[in-house]
Amino acid sequence: MIIQENIDIKKFTTFHVSAICRFFTEIFTLEELNEALNFSVNNKLPVLFIGGGSNILFTNKTFNGLVIKVNLKGIQETLGNHNNQVFVSGMAGENWDSFVSYCINKNYGGLENLSLIPGNVGTSPIQNIGAYGVEMKDSFYQLKALNLTTREIEIFSFDDCNFGYRESFFKNEGRNNYVILEVTFQLTTKKHKLKLSYGDIMDELNKDKISEPSLKEIRNQIIATRKRKLPDPEVLGNAGSFFKNPIIPIYQLIKIRENYPNIPFYTISNDFVKLPAAWLIEKTGWKGKKIGNVGVHEKQPLVLVNLGTATGKEIFSLSNSIIEDVNKIFNIQLEREVNIIL
Ligand SMILES: Cc1cc2nc3c(=O)[nH]c(=O)nc-3n(C[C@H](O)[C@H](O)[C@H](O)COP(=O)(O)OP(=O)(O)OC[C@H]3O[C@@H](n4cnc5c(N)ncnc54)[C@H](O)[C@@H]3O)c2cc1C
Repeated sequence: MIIQENIDIKKFTTFHVSAICRFFTEIFTLEELNEALNFSVNNKLPVLFIGGGSNILFTNKTFNGLVIKVNLKGIQETLGNHNNQVFVSGMAGENWDSFVSYCINKNYGGLENLSLIPGNVGTSPIQNIGAYGVEMKDSFYQLKALNLTTREIEIFSFDDCNFGYRESFFKNEGRNNYVILEVTFQLTTKKHKLKLSYGDIMDELNKDKISEPSLKEIRNQIIATRKRKLPDPEVLGNAGSFFKNPIIPIYQLIKIRENYPNIPFYTISNDFVKLPAAWLIEKTGWKGKKIGNVGVHEKQPLVLVNLGTATGKEIFSLSNSIIEDVNKIFNIQLEREVNIIL
């Protein structure tokens, strides 16, 4: 294991924002992980883990601690008891989309709608990644994580993870106490439960005259749609959706509809609805706006972009302005989805 000093995190995150980390290391084995943790304890340094760096914003020019990039690799399969199920485990450092591609090439169903989400397998449970009507939790079986205090490996079942909308135990109580090592998914080998009703997936498939799509055809469609709608972080630094879609009580929706009768919403229970944050932001006039080095994406206002040499502070400050304006107009407090490093 090599510990480097004064490393700029810029190329390890998709926002491509500069922050000098006092110490930085990449770990490929459990032994290296333990060595890195010993180094942090001996030197009384805070530790920060990163995977693909696609959901993180460093807001300061320096980080006075040890950044550990988790590069544990490997994919393993164990056949389940039922003949149409398979259990596939990915080590934390496997790239998420390569893992999805591996499963689809074997005709294992469950993850196809989550194609092309950036990041790694080990980070997928942290905010329970989701897209096109599917969440990671829908195929999740269990995960292994190292307890940073006891240094014991613990197994977390579905219930232990406390998954919610872009939430889990690891984004809340478990934050800073665990590093995820491996995630196991329960996938189908036949009679796949396809989810095609969300957004325009089926319309697009129909356009191509595909009525009974294969997993590969769904994946290709989703990749094409995502490429059309979302900025490529390699071209324009970003971390995907910066904000979560807010969940509000129905009585509040009724009030907002007095002024905005066409407000879109999804009913999630008898008492609550989810609103598209993109629509709220668009109504504040922020869509497509630029301020210096930062901007709000012109097609997808949930995405804040680094126009070249933005600092983390500039992006954070833009997010504050948007939160304030949405609050002023709708009395709704937007929550950030991206992990902010203060
Ligand atoms: C263009 C674009 C599109 C996106 N689209 C979506 C989408 O459709 N749906 C969606 O849900 N998300 C989306 N995202 C967000 C992002 O891809 C996901 O949140 C992804 O899971 C982050 O993975 P990562 O490996 O990059 O995490 P990182 O950014 O590296 O880390 C995220 C958090 O996890 C912590 N962490 C890192 N590794 C570990 C570990 N092994 N154990 C414990 N903690 C750890 C970090 O400290 C940080 O707090 C998008 C991002 C981009 C840039």
